[in-house]
Amino acid sequence: MKLKLLHMYPDVLNLYRDRGNVITIKRRCEWRNIDIEIIPFTIHDKYDFDEIDIFFIGGGSDRGQRIVYKDFLNYRQEFKRVIKDDAVILAICGGYQLLGKKYIDSEGNELPGLGIFKYETISGKDRLIGNIIIENNLGLKPKTIVGFENHGGRTYSDYEPFGFVRVGYGNNGEDGKEGMVYRNCIGTYLHGPLLPKNPHLTDYLILKALERKYNISSLEELNDEIEYAAHKKVLKLYG
Ligand code: GLN
Repeated sequence: MKLKLLHMYPDVLNLYRDRGNVITIKRRCEWRNIDIEIIPFTIHDKYDFDEIDIFFIGGGSDRGQRIVYKDFLNYRQEFKRVIKDDAVILAICGGYQLLGKKYIDSEGNELPGLGIFKYETISGKDRLIGNIIIENNLGLKPKTIVGFENHGGRTYSDYEPFGFVRVGYGNNGEDGKEGMVYRNCIGTYLHGPLLPKNPHLTDYLILKALERKYNISSLEELNDEIEYAAHKKVLKLYG
């Protein structure tokens, strides 16, 4: 079994340990002897998107988003196709914003997104920062997902949320929704260490990719004592 993960713009979109999320997917595959190749993909690179099982897009500063968005727009058709074809996508913060219609940044610049999803994001006066706890909408156990958020953008979305905010802000600090889910695509404001502290979510992504490619329906259990100790500590401190 072999999976390929395309890490988009790791040189520009890599805030708050987003790279750690990719390392976590890699390690949890390797611990199960699942071969996984991590392919860094940046501006002007080329790759056949149909060969990819998991796409990872991290978050970025407004400046970083201004740097990548034009290149990203070249992949509108590819993303449309792979999302329909159930490829696994995890798009965090800036990456999540750019899959939508547009992002109006803190200086009032309008950055068009891929427009694959109909939500839009507008930067507010202050930033929404802090540890965040949500209840996931994917049916995963435990229900809680913990992470860290830091965004000026407020996203207004009618899609199924990734989760419901218990502590923190989520999409906009108003409607209690966090992120979005469509097929195997997840958009979220939760940065690293999202996957290290939420092994159930990491395994969900790996399993979705294996299901799609190899029709595999379960994963070998791992010892997640350390991961859940970190998860529980967040619940204890901020929950
Ligand atoms: N620049 C965007 C915002 O402030 C995204 C930030 C991020 O990726 N953390 O909303």
